[in-house]
Amino acid sequence: MKLRTLITGGAGFLGSHLCDRLIEEGHYVICMDNLITGNMDNIAHLIGNENFKFIKHDVTEYVYVEGRLDNILHFASPASPVDYLKLPIQTLKVGALGTHKTLGLAKEKGARFLLASSSEVYGDPEVNPQSEDYRGNVSPIGPRGVYDESKRFAEALVMAYHRCHGVDTRIARIFNTYGPRMRPDDGRVISNFINQALRNHALTVYGNGSQTRSFCYVSDTVEGIIRLLESDEHDPVNLGNPDEMTILILAHKVLQVMGNDVGIAFKPLPIDDPKVRRPDISRAQKLLSWRPKVSLDEGLRRTIEYFRQRR
Ligand code: UDP
Repeated sequence: MKLRTLITGGAGFLGSHLCDRLIEEGHYVICMDNLITGNMDNIAHLIGNENFKFIKHDVTEYVYVEGRLDNILHFASPASPVDYLKLPIQTLKVGALGTHKTLGLAKEKGARFLLASSSEVYGDPEVNPQSEDYRGNVSPIGPRGVYDESKRFAEALVMAYHRCHGVDTRIARIFNTYGPRMRPDDGRVISNFINQALRNHALTVYGNGSQTRSFCYVSDTVEGIIRLLESDEHDPVNLGNPDEMTILILAHKVLQVMGNDVGIAFKPLPIDDPKVRRPDISRAQKLLSWRPKVSLDEGLRRTIEYFRQRR
């Protein structure tokens, strides 16, 4: 029997890659999105596929899905800092009300539920790397608080539905992910750098570029999510690439891979920008036998190609 899977935020960057992957695995996929940051272009190739259905809906409102449901993957949310700073209330609502509605649906249908959580639950971390037992350093009232707290609340709600109602839940703490289908204007560092270089503009490095991140190529993140979904693990699992680098080194890397020396323009550092970020993936390695495979060079090449073709 075909598994029936609902993906909220299914027209977004990660959501649309999950739609592809689950259809490949033989699922019937229902993709729900209100298209405020998602984009129909990401799923255009799936329209008309007999194993795919798109429903335009805002999951902060009552969610109705006809028939059986085996899995719900809750990926709806503005997810880049620029997006959630522009949409602070929608971000809080989708993490709180949207998670509540979709958990209610999972309970009603007896479906397995996977939450797309985030490394932002660790805030501006005081320990590096971050393992799942680190409780984080988040400012609830700072500009990033809308995303960080919405994901923290969402995790709390998932655990409560698991403990009180026995819902079969998973929590993926996803670290910086990049690849085709990111929006050129999403404001994320890799989208900005590639699109700036393509326009012959200097790369904008915020602060002095000494802050660190660890970038995971989208196919690796998707593989981790699928393995987590298929596991029995209810506690949060970090999914990310432990290859940490400064933003300045990333800028040089992008220039080198693109062979286009447009230079660097230093800009002010955003408020509460985490100084370091690197996942400890011991749990994912042990529980899911997962670790990222795609190198930064290869991932950048594929992403550059995508943005080149879009232009
Ligand atoms: N950043 C940058 N230039 C840009 C965009 C971002 O230097 O044009 C920095 C940003 O300040 C942060 C890092 O790159 O330190 C990653 O930013 P992003 O928005 O991709 O995601 P975050 O990891 O902060 O959620």
